[in-house]
Amino acid sequence: MTEADDDPAVPVHCPECETTTRVPISDLATAIERHNENLHDGEECARVDPDVADELADIVAEELGLLE
Ligand SMILES: [Zn+2]
Repeated sequence: MTEADDDPAVPVHCPECETTTRVPISDLATAIERHNENLHDGEECARVDPDVADELADIVAEELGLLE
């Protein structure tokens, strides 16, 4: 089982900072947590762009499927 692509990058949007950062899906939870921890005192400001949340769910489902 070989995967040519690296982890797909997911846009994380922070309305407070008005930034969108692309983060590898494997680093997603950590990156969001770190951003909110460092810049917003742990408040949940940064999050996955809602537009891609649906798409992301598909990707995650696929990833989980591959792990079986
Ligand atoms: Zn922020």
